Amino acid sequence: MTQTCDYLILGGGSAGCVIARRLAEKTQGHIIMVEAGKSDEVDPAANDLFLLDDQTADYDWGFLASTLSGRAPELNYSRQKLLGGCANHNDCAFLFPPSSDFDHWASLGAKGWSAADLAPYVARIHKTVNVELAPTHPASRAFIEAGRERGLPEVDFRDAIVPGVGLFPLNARGRRRQSSSIAYLHPLSALPKHLEIWTETFASKILFEGRRAIGAATSRGTVRANRAVVLACGAIQTPQLLMVSGLGPAADLRNHGIPVIADLPGVGRHLLDHVSAPVVWATREPVAPWQVCPFEATMLLKLEDEAPAPDILFHFGLRVREKYGDHPRLAVGVPAVKASPNVARARSEGTVRLASSDMRDKPVIDLNYFSDPDGYDLALLIRAMRFTRELGHTRAMRSLCSAELRPGPEVASDADWQSYIEDVCETVYHPSGTCRMGDPADPKVVCTPDLKLKGLDGLYVADASVFPSMVTVNINATVMTVAEKAADLIV
Ligand SMILES: Cc1cc2nc3c(=O)[nH]c(=O)nc-3n(C[C@H](O)[C@H](O)[C@H](O)COP(=O)(O)OP(=O)(O)OC[C@H]3O[C@@H](n4cnc5c(N)ncnc54)[C@H](O)[C@@H]3O)c2cc1C
Repeated sequence: MTQTCDYLILGGGSAGCVIARRLAEKTQGHIIMVEAGKSDEVDPAANDLFLLDDQTADYDWGFLASTLSGRAPELNYSRQKLLGGCANHNDCAFLFPPSSDFDHWASLGAKGWSAADLAPYVARIHKTVNVELAPTHPASRAFIEAGRERGLPEVDFRDAIVPGVGLFPLNARGRRRQSSSIAYLHPLSALPKHLEIWTETFASKILFEGRRAIGAATSRGTVRANRAVVLACGAIQTPQLLMVSGLGPAADLRNHGIPVIADLPGVGRHLLDHVSAPVVWATREPVAPWQVCPFEATMLLKLEDEAPAPDILFHFGLRVREKYGDHPRLAVGVPAVKASPNVARARSEGTVRLASSDMRDKPVIDLNYFSDPDGYDLALLIRAMRFTRELGHTRAMRSLCSAELRPGPEVASDADWQSYIEDVCETVYHPSGTCRMGDPADPKVVCTPDLKLKGLDGLYVADASVFPSMVTVNINATVMTVAEKAADLIV
């Protein structure tokens, strides 16, 4: 069966839901958004802020990633399969990057993406999404006091991304999250007639006539798009879908028997992420339950004087998970808290590669942490880990915690820290950059600054994949900023 529409959006995650709503406002054209997961509205689990704990094959794509190149894939690289995407189970930290990040994008060739260019889109998000400060658990307060003891100011990070300590702004209203699905699309029954959302529908291939994208093969049949096909499957599956459809590094495609439509060497390369490692302390008392999510407090440091913005961001965790988010080797089995600094603008680049030509097979994800040629990521993280350990010696943290459990006092030299970090490094789940936009003359660039696939017609990428470089903070607000602008570029 073939259906026809004007705009076909593949992937109904953080970005897709924003694009669907804004396209529907801007045009009377027929829009279909295809999402593999279920509706987040009919499924009560989707409104639970702790969905990650209830992760099942129904809700998650079940990817594994290698942290260091050559290492076995053992890190649970969770990606949500549900309308609203990863914003269904993320920690709701909602921070807009400092202007230097977007200005850097523009300097890398993404014309039209400077901070001044993006300000109207940030303002639109503020009008649509409720952002409020996390509640303050006593242990989070202790972490904030520890930062103050170390001379940092207490900061409201809704106002500025500057060195300091404070509470995470959350895209939530009380205990109800404000994913882009909830904030932009709910209630689904009231959507305009020209916007159709097909949940539980899997996109397996983009279809072309010559170099023009004309639709996609889906589990509900072929969908033709008269005006545009928009990819918003996230930074892992957007490049995967491009590659199985014949767009990517030609040699890799041929190895899998895929006919090459366009040789785009940058597809699936330049995988960016925020790498971190924790210091874990045993608490003197069991940690009382938190109200909204287990990451309430954060800290931003600027360790390098010449850095344009803070270069380290912390997550202070009210628990140490044994399955998701923490490295399996970190299980401690006693009440504990942890502080995990991450390299804010990490420079290492990983890859997403095909395991086969079938979109249903999981891709091969190599995060390739600490591979940047100058060793910036590792050197900065070691400095941050030393600072983190010192936080444990403050009055505030000593009254909360009895002992450092990980890495423990035997880790002291740079070499000790390196081997600890390499052993337990973990992700903040911010994959991005795998179809980077920029100057079309750069062979590694995949999308032009108008988000079109280089050298093709009718095909756009509009999700975390297009980041030209990593942003300083948690990326969801930036993904939504990309999506807000995308709607203007696509119509
Ligand atoms: C555990 C976790 C915690 C996080 N915490 C935070 C946080 O606190 N703050 C923050 O800013 N960021 C956080 N993030 C990151 C943030 O949520 C993501 O970066 C953001 O949601 C990415 O948006 P996206 O639209 O690019 O992709 P996604 O939100 O992943 O959306 C992609 C969508 O495409 C669908 N899809 C994929 N393939 C297909 C296909 N073949 N056919 C049909 N549909 C398909 C998926 O099911 C999904 O719904 C977290 C992420 C995770 C996983």
